[in-house]
Amino acid sequence: MSAARDRYLAEIGIPVWRLRSAAVAEAPAPVMAPVAAESEPRAAPSGGAPDADVWSDLAARVSGCTRCVLHKSRTQTVFGVGRRDARLFVIGEAPGADEDRQGEPFVGRAGQLLNAMLRAMGLPRSEVYIANILKCRPPNNRDPQPEEQASCTPYLSQQIALVQPRALLALGRISAQWLLQTDTPIGRLRGRVLSYGERNTPLVVTYHPAYLLRSPLDKAKAWTDLCLVKELLSQSP
Ligand code: URA
Repeated sequence: MSAARDRYLAEIGIPVWRLRSAAVAEAPAPVMAPVAAESEPRAAPSGGAPDADVWSDLAARVSGCTRCVLHKSRTQTVFGVGRRDARLFVIGEAPGADEDRQGEPFVGRAGQLLNAMLRAMGLPRSEVYIANILKCRPPNNRDPQPEEQASCTPYLSQQIALVQPRALLALGRISAQWLLQTDTPIGRLRGRVLSYGERNTPLVVTYHPAYLLRSPLDKAKAWTDLCLVKELLSQSP
């Protein structure tokens, strides 16, 4: 395992154990091979509007959205960020205060931890696409309401359809249960490969970084989920 990866694992609170005698062997690494970055963006589907137009039309619809009550209290919408041809699409719950102020998902403390988790996987934030189920902040960070999630989901679905990621990573109970339309507890959803939508995109569920900040003992389980994502990505073309 590389020194950089050791550092990131330490950063997210996963202790790295080494055999005392380096001559004997390296400790088996619980991570998969790094994913090769794609050099070329995926081509726009033939026949329709160019991808750039579809993206800017979608962004305009999101920023002017009044489909649910949350538009009244938002500072701004939080569309999503990252590579439009990302292999991994990360899905959180909803913007918090920092995201509402800055207009970008996962920029607060939970975002710092998410960045470290992604780096530990060998995938910097700039290589993935990140968005939330909700594009507007629920007041006082209350849980999203089903009608708010239902109003907002078409935007997320279109983002996923445009990016066509090889894998989805759902962060936390709210995101996972909504995407999978289930009330199964997160402890039973995480740790395996599920699938999402008509394209059957592989979906892995893990704990939300905000939860991991409160419950650091679960970081080891989150790390096994991230390793599963790495394995999925390394298997797909
Ligand atoms: N939590 C989320 O689920 N999303 C964000 O963008 C920030 C915190």
